[in-house]
Amino acid sequence: DVDLKNSIRLIREVPDFPEPGVLFRDISPMLADPAALRAITDALGRGLEFDVVAGVEARGFLLGAAVAQAHGTGVIGLRKPGKLPEVADRISYELEYGHATLELPADTLRAGQRVLVVDDVLATGGTLGAACRLVRQAGSEVTAATVVMELAALGGRAKVDGEHVRALLRS
Ligand code: 5GP
Repeated sequence: DVDLKNSIRLIREVPDFPEPGVLFRDISPMLADPAALRAITDALGRGLEFDVVAGVEARGFLLGAAVAQAHGTGVIGLRKPGKLPEVADRISYELEYGHATLELPADTLRAGQRVLVVDDVLATGGTLGAACRLVRQAGSEVTAATVVMELAALGGRAKVDGEHVRALLRS
């Protein structure tokens, strides 16, 4: 897929961000390009059946909304703590250093809905795994957990155990 290959070239590699030794993948230029946004959006949802998209804060919001629009569904933002006026449910998970929480907004997800989970990057897997558990905890199904890029060397897939993981690019 030529469009997808060209899109992936627009991902910038930024050394030493957010801390020394980390090679950060910045998808901002890819999102800013109309053909790339379309190609990525199509590829994330292609062939999958889902009722709603759940995008992980913050780049998963941008991708998730585009995927939802392309597939005629709504979108739910899974948020970091302290942002939502009403929370339906939350989940805490371990990071390399410390822990983090994701929250599901009230009156969004209904039990039994099929959910496409979307984020930009699968690194250590804590975030994507927690997003999937939060969806299942609410009585819904995870159709797939999808990302643009998987940093395979970090072994994050193990934390999204049992889910159908789709990564457009593995590096
Ligand atoms: P994990 O929980 O898999 O270690 O980290 C994934 C989360 O951190 C995702 O929400 C993702 O947005 C962010 N993240 C970690 N590494 C990178 C990176 O290199 N590039 C981008 N864009 N996001 C990253």
